[in-house]
Amino acid sequence: MIEVNDLQKFYEDFSAVSSLTFNVYPGEIFGIIGPNGAGKSTTLKMLIGLIKPTSGTIKINGLGLSSNMVEIKSILGFLPEDSTLYENMEVEEYLLFFSELYGLDKKDANERIFRLLTDLSLNPYSKKIGDLSKGMKRKVAIARSLINEPDILVYDEPGSGLDPMTSNFITEYIGQLKNEGKTIVFSAHNLYQMDKLCDRILIIKDGKQKALGSPGEIKKQYSNTSYRLEFVLDNNKDAEIQLKQENIFWRDDRYVLLTENIETVNSVTKKIITSGGKILEMSTVEPTLEDIFLRIVSS
Ligand code: ADP
Ligand code: MG
Repeated sequence: MIEVNDLQKFYEDFSAVSSLTFNVYPGEIFGIIGPNGAGKSTTLKMLIGLIKPTSGTIKINGLGLSSNMVEIKSILGFLPEDSTLYENMEVEEYLLFFSELYGLDKKDANERIFRLLTDLSLNPYSKKIGDLSKGMKRKVAIARSLINEPDILVYDEPGSGLDPMTSNFITEYIGQLKNEGKTIVFSAHNLYQMDKLCDRILIIKDGKQKALGSPGEIKKQYSNTSYRLEFVLDNNKDAEIQLKQENIFWRDDRYVLLTENIETVNSVTKKIITSGGKILEMSTVEPTLEDIFLRIVSS
């Protein structure tokens, strides 16, 4: 479990992160969303002890990060936003090099590397890292983050800048890591993928917490369901004039009412029926996480 309390980071007098307080529970996929410059990478780097908070505390499995770095490092796997890999090494050689750093014996390391490369669809692999595509390099970086079998994974934009297929593959792989019992904290921009993948989400802007909760909770909290009513009016001019409100528009061959207010739906329905019109379709429209995100960050 990760406990973050009143976390702040100043770069000189610029506040990059302020007053972040959240927990990440074991086995959870926790997503951090925010526009560029919101403080996502700064937050993730503080979580793994790569940079020091200006103030506030981070505890991992009950241990304070600042004074238990050695124990904590062994349970964390990090994927930086721009992972630099050793371009001249071959993939397996590179991963073996890292397993040696973690003190794994060669047999275990080879088994683990084989499994990771297979799971990541990178097997067989004896190519030089420098010759790999961007997506493959990202997968190698992911394999590296998993080589010491950490319980907690901190991934900074794992699927960003990759083709949709690789990006989806990585999203699914993160889901698989959760099924294996890992806890994952990651930042990303694809809100559609995050909506499906994350147990809970933190939305930040200008380093500040804007929303925290499950995708469902955030949707409920920040946006209401809208109602959509499609109807025709049978050439009734009076009714047309009465009904021409702001949120009724003409689409192809029918009128469409879009509103968050059920009372409006009721009164418009009555008018349609009494004026000889006909309701063609009625539906509810759930906001997407992206709708809400845009609303939160543009306010
Ligand atoms: P994100 O990952 O959400 O795009 P970052 O955490 O990288 O955002 O950056 C948050 C803010 O802190 C940005 O305004 C960025 O310019 C600033 N920043 C990040 N690193 C440094 C640094 N080493 N020195 C000064 N400012 C920094
Ligand atoms: Mg970043």
